[in-house]
Amino acid sequence: MKQCLAGLTRAELREWAAANGEAAFRGSQIADWMYRRFQPDPDEMNNLPAGTRRKLTEAFHAPCVQMLQSDCAADGTEKLLVELTDGEAVEMVLIPGGDDEEKQRLTFCLSTQVGCPVGCLFCASGRNGLIRNLKAGEMVGQFLLGCRRAGRRPDNLVFMGIGEGLFNFEELSKALQILSGQEEFAMSPRRITVSTSGFVPGMQKFAALEKEFTLAISLHAADDETRSKIIPDKLRYPIAEIMDAADLYLEKAGRMVTFEYTLLEGINDRQEDAAKLAKLAIAHHAKVNLIPYNSTGGEFRRPAKEVIRHFRDILHNAGAHVTIRQERGAKSSAACGQLRLRSKAMPALTGKG
Ligand code: SF4
Repeated sequence: MKQCLAGLTRAELREWAAANGEAAFRGSQIADWMYRRFQPDPDEMNNLPAGTRRKLTEAFHAPCVQMLQSDCAADGTEKLLVELTDGEAVEMVLIPGGDDEEKQRLTFCLSTQVGCPVGCLFCASGRNGLIRNLKAGEMVGQFLLGCRRAGRRPDNLVFMGIGEGLFNFEELSKALQILSGQEEFAMSPRRITVSTSGFVPGMQKFAALEKEFTLAISLHAADDETRSKIIPDKLRYPIAEIMDAADLYLEKAGRMVTFEYTLLEGINDRQEDAAKLAKLAIAHHAKVNLIPYNSTGGEFRRPAKEVIRHFRDILHNAGAHVTIRQERGAKSSAACGQLRLRSKAMPALTGKG
């Protein structure tokens, strides 16, 4: 089966060149096209001989992702529907700006799986379960597509798109190696965030990397009973075990975790929820990011503004580090998974990444 060219490190590209009768520097030339010019398509690598380009095309999927559709919001947030070589699709998001002083910042949000095995009840991405894991090259391929689209590298990268990334640990860690490798994209690990629903075996492996990647835990509830109303049993771990894994990450990576907490009216937005969440955050040295729910038309609702503010204040007054996520992409299909679910009715391919 063909590999994705974007899933190779610089050393692996050199090895490929040597094994295929090419001069060693050809591997470095290919690497420079990808890591410096964000170009994974051999047909565009115009300083390579035609024979080398042909060999690459025969050996690899290159590029291995293509843009199917984009949906741009008034604030500049752009959601892309991305097609993979087997016809499946995932989403990625380009998010400009931030706070006023951060106007020039750019963040990419990438997917790690087609569908999701966790199936959080408020999330469109998990509605049909897991279809397949993405390869490392398909994650790096999204990064390359975003860089070409934006004309530059992002300042921050978050794996918060479709999928439970730590359930696809081997491929995700290879992608992280390429994105942060000094010989490849050289992004600071601190600027790369991996989000998990609290998949404990994956969190333990992530901690064991002993790298300064940022970890965000989608907690959504401060007790197991409330959490069971949001996340189905099959991949939901007890909060006590999640906290142990968070402590391990703090010890091994030396970084604070973030608790992501989607506020759902009448489910997890009570004062007692805020008090319990504050206790957990303080005990485990975690920051809390409150996310007012973005409706997908299901049973869940966003709490009123004053409820959200009061929830935040309880945490703040208890001494927890808390923020409310700024809403981005409000006029696009901003709730994760909506674009992919709608895509069956979409027109055919419109662009190439
Ligand atoms: S919120 Fe994340 S973990 Fe939960 S179903 Fe959606 S993609 Fe999966």
